[in-house]
Amino acid sequence: MIDLSGRVALVTGASRGIGETVARRLAEAGAAVALTARSGAAVQAIAGEINAAGGKAVAFTCDIADFAQVAATAAAVESELGRVDVLINNAGILDPIGGLHEVDPEAVMTTLRVNVGGAAACARAVLPGMLAAGRGTIVNISSGAAHSPLEGWTAYCTSKAGLYMLTRCLAHEYGDKGVRTYGFGPGVVDTEMQATIRASGVGPVAKLKRSDLAPAARPAEVIAWLCSEAAADLAGQELSIRDPALLQRVGLEAA
Ligand code: NAP
Repeated sequence: MIDLSGRVALVTGASRGIGETVARRLAEAGAAVALTARSGAAVQAIAGEINAAGGKAVAFTCDIADFAQVAATAAAVESELGRVDVLINNAGILDPIGGLHEVDPEAVMTTLRVNVGGAAACARAVLPGMLAAGRGTIVNISSGAAHSPLEGWTAYCTSKAGLYMLTRCLAHEYGDKGVRTYGFGPGVVDTEMQATIRASGVGPVAKLKRSDLAPAARPAEVIAWLCSEAAADLAGQELSIRDPALLQRVGLEAA
């Protein structure tokens, strides 16, 4: 059983998909959860459902590409819930899909700004509190795309490779100060992002059938486990749902 009672978690991109499911799972494990996304009404509604079910959740509208908004949101979460013990850097975008020679360079920069800049801004905003407390957990949601180039996904692959190095740098700088940072690749998960990929028809992932995709509850279980003491020895690593040894430790069947 994963017990996160007494912990405060901030989840980005909690309006749908993996982030929503992670927020619900962390709350079920006893954490107080702050849900953030650009879709304020969606995160408010999910937080309302968590509270109605006996959990503790608050919601904030936050575009992680706007770094001032990120700082203000982290401060609001700390003021409302006391502190942030856990940051799940989940918010991410995939577009633009296409060869680099075809896509809008500004769209490439937006992907880098959201997937790398936004994650770094969120970490930067919560680190002072974690360092003062002498403990904290940051989970950066990675992808196989961080490590292998995929057709039409230059912006996304480059951004996730940047996020991978952010994980390593955070672990290097803050690991001995009590802040555990993990990268985690969730596999192919049945979310809106995968619907966009299928609709594009570009690259190998677009060929996957929806029935081939995992439910978001699977990676959410691993992410909740990474926030627990049981995962302490894996801090600093880039982990993947494809690792059978990791699944065994979490108590999940191999796919
Ligand atoms: P999704 O269904 O498209 O959800 C993405 C979430 O990110 C939404 O809640 C969205 O909320 C939020 N978001 C996007 N841009 C944002 C911004 N600028 N500021 C704040 N929030 C923003 O995607 P998903 O599949 O759940 O993906 C979640 C994470 O897993 C991403 O980092 C993705 O790269 C990674 N991942 C997914 C898969 C997969 O198979 N699904 C595989 C590998 C990695 P708003 O639109 O309301 O802002």
